[in-house]
Amino acid sequence: MSQNSTLILGGGISGLLAAWHLRRAGQAVEVWEALETVGGWAQTLAWPGPSGEPAFLERGPQGLRLGRSSALARLCRDLDLSFAPSGPKGPRWLGKGGRRRPSPATLRGPLTDPDLGLAAKLRLLGEPFIGLGPAEEDLQSFFARRLGEGFAQACLPALVAGVLAAPPERLGVEALPRLQTLEARGGLLLGALRVGLEATHLLRGGTGALARTLAEHLGCVQPERRAMALEALPGGRWRVQGQGISREAAQLVLALPTPEAAALLATVASPSAALLAAIPTLDLRVWHSRHTPVPGWERDFGLLLHPPEGRGLLGVVALAADDPRGVPGLLQLRTYLGGAFPLAPELEAWPGVFQELRRWLPELGEAVQVRAEPCPGAFPLLAPGHAARLTRLLEALPAGLHWLGAARFGPGLPDLAEGIEAWAKTFPAR
Ligand SMILES: Cc1cc2nc3c(=O)[nH]c(=O)nc-3n(C[C@H](O)[C@H](O)[C@H](O)COP(=O)(O)OP(=O)(O)OC[C@H]3O[C@@H](n4cnc5c(N)ncnc54)[C@H](O)[C@@H]3O)c2cc1C
Repeated sequence: MSQNSTLILGGGISGLLAAWHLRRAGQAVEVWEALETVGGWAQTLAWPGPSGEPAFLERGPQGLRLGRSSALARLCRDLDLSFAPSGPKGPRWLGKGGRRRPSPATLRGPLTDPDLGLAAKLRLLGEPFIGLGPAEEDLQSFFARRLGEGFAQACLPALVAGVLAAPPERLGVEALPRLQTLEARGGLLLGALRVGLEATHLLRGGTGALARTLAEHLGCVQPERRAMALEALPGGRWRVQGQGISREAAQLVLALPTPEAAALLATVASPSAALLAAIPTLDLRVWHSRHTPVPGWERDFGLLLHPPEGRGLLGVVALAADDPRGVPGLLQLRTYLGGAFPLAPELEAWPGVFQELRRWLPELGEAVQVRAEPCPGAFPLLAPGHAARLTRLLEALPAGLHWLGAARFGPGLPDLAEGIEAWAKTFPAR
């Protein structure tokens, strides 16, 4: 590495995006990834079918939510990534009151929800007339202010649990940065029309193709290279110690989950390390399963559960019957549990999970294949007040040390793409 080079620790989407933007700005970069493969959570893993058919599962996102002019859409165009055609979606449900009803993520959902009275439904339509809120707000208060108490009580908990695995009152609005962008542009409805609606796109080769393609273009990702210790050198430079190897660099970027970043920073930037270590992370339980197909679900389906009724089961999504990641003739599901919600003891193992699924999806046949993919530390919990703590954390970082990731920009890949693109423009300033 040259005298003025930058070493990036972590070859997940954050580290690869940082390398991509710095390289484009003419910087010399190298990426260290602890594991054999890049991508972190955003990896497509082989999961052969019952007769060994080639098939796959997604560790993290099943698709990419792209707005017309979003940073992620620009990146995909620059990388020349191609998308699998995705037709209309199948049903989207909310499990509540012991039965399935249309999902609150659809326009029809809240308008037909029997728990929302006429006044609450009319209140939804008043959203474009609501002004800006306070700088610091939890998600429950944000939605109650914009869409009314009725929506916030009846519909919001399942939506937030399905995306962030936590209750809305335990999250700051900064956990979903797009909400603040939309509010600044006139509200959830008008803002979305102005900023551009988002749609889910399926990458050919799965979501993992994003990280693989980035790494191929970069050509500077060192797999199986785990950073184990940092050292401050005279002249403001840094040394990183790996197993049997060390590297010096002018700038160090930690694109790591918060516990790993906190552990490395403890000896060289203890105030930032302490603030990082205080950010809680959520563990998700994820089950992948394959079943005989169910008529009517060929285009896929999604079910969110109203958290008190799910007993820790947060939701389930299916692949469309023609999704190239699945096995032809089988229905492939991904079921999420846990996060900030306590898990009923019966849901610790697959038989209990399947029984709970059948309560909401009686059409579902026995699984012919099941695989558990635990996701420890899947998401940071960005509690109300997170933005202020973040400012203190960044201010306390010594010159030449940088930290990126889901706890800084939000856990969604579109948030990471937006945040890291903007961060790279200020580099090497903080
Ligand atoms: C089950 C699940 C579903 C999700 N669904 C969606 C979704 O639908 N839409 C969406 O937008 N997002 C989703 N996400 C979130 C998204 O995938 C993550 O927020 C994002 O991938 C985080 O990327 P990252 O690079 O910041 O961190 P990570 O993916 O955690 O990457 C960090 C990398 O650092 C490496 N590393 C760790 N320690 C060291 C070390 N000491 N030295 C070197 N390398 C190290 C790790 O091996 C890893 O590769 C989901 C996540 C999960 C878990």
